[in-house]
Amino acid sequence: MSKIVDVKFELKTYKYYKPFHITGSVSDSSTNIEVVVITDIGIKGYGEISPSFRVNGEKVEGLYKLEAAIKESIVNMDVKEYRRIFDVLDKFFATPSVKAGVQYAVLDAFSEEINTPVYYLLGGMKREIETDKTVGIDTIENMVKEAKEIFSEGFKNIKIKVGEDLRKDIETVEEIARNTKEAKYIVDANMGYTPKQAVEFVRVLYKKGVDISVFEQPVVASDIDGLKYVRFNSPYPVAADESAKSKYDVYRLIREEAVDFVNIKLMKSGLSDALAIVEMVKTANLKLMIGCMGESSLGINQSVNFALGTGAFVFHDLDSHLMLKENKFRGKFKQNGSKITIL
Ligand SMILES: [Mg+2]
Repeated sequence: MSKIVDVKFELKTYKYYKPFHITGSVSDSSTNIEVVVITDIGIKGYGEISPSFRVNGEKVEGLYKLEAAIKESIVNMDVKEYRRIFDVLDKFFATPSVKAGVQYAVLDAFSEEINTPVYYLLGGMKREIETDKTVGIDTIENMVKEAKEIFSEGFKNIKIKVGEDLRKDIETVEEIARNTKEAKYIVDANMGYTPKQAVEFVRVLYKKGVDISVFEQPVVASDIDGLKYVRFNSPYPVAADESAKSKYDVYRLIREEAVDFVNIKLMKSGLSDALAIVEMVKTANLKLMIGCMGESSLGINQSVNFALGTGAFVFHDLDSHLMLKENKFRGKFKQNGSKITIL
């Protein structure tokens, strides 16, 4: 047996190398909760909760207080029967990042017990994935400089944050494209545009000959009609991020034909909903990308194992650990620049 005997939460704060600016938010640090699930034979499974108030309305101070309730819910359960534990943790639907970190820690404990990496438990579909790196909002000059640095470091996929100033955004993306030819671009407005502004943005760039691989969350999360309007008037594929949290959100997006791509983040859905979303989106013949919040290497480890195991993603935006100052790399994977491979 491998019964859970204890669950521990610990707060950890990581500073960004430079303040990370996206539409409506600037962060200079990320405070996460490290989760440890301990079994009766002394095995420890690790996970990380990296909440987003902007996306999920979660505050880390409040989540930290759930330690006792989580322990009470899953203590004495066996990590081998992790699906049973996932079902119990689904009751914490209002705090999806807690679901994510604890569900992963359970899987990590099971993985340690049978000495088999989590990516194999989840299916072992890929041996290698490639991540993008993100250019946050800044002056045009600084954004172009950063994109050039990222490209010269070997990242072929560059994520560009826009959404606060339509004219400046168009000029920025055009300049970056001119300076990093051969790169692919994921452009993320983080809900910053109206549907009409979003369509103007893509049409002007298309006329200028700029190619965008994914146009992410152009409009506010609840505006599904707006998302659909952009999708049907955009020459580029449109993705839902903030609009796609639970499996029920994604079910609705599929039914309403609102998007081409869904951006899964474990912190929005937990592992249980993320697994359901993968199957739903594949069944609907749409595409998937995977992203992150402010995870350290411990939290990125979760998404890396999920992505390698399911093999479901066209684009991987798993770069928060590259932007945070950490004393120690804690991923159970190998990283060489943009390339992430199994151990
Ligand atoms: Mg996004």
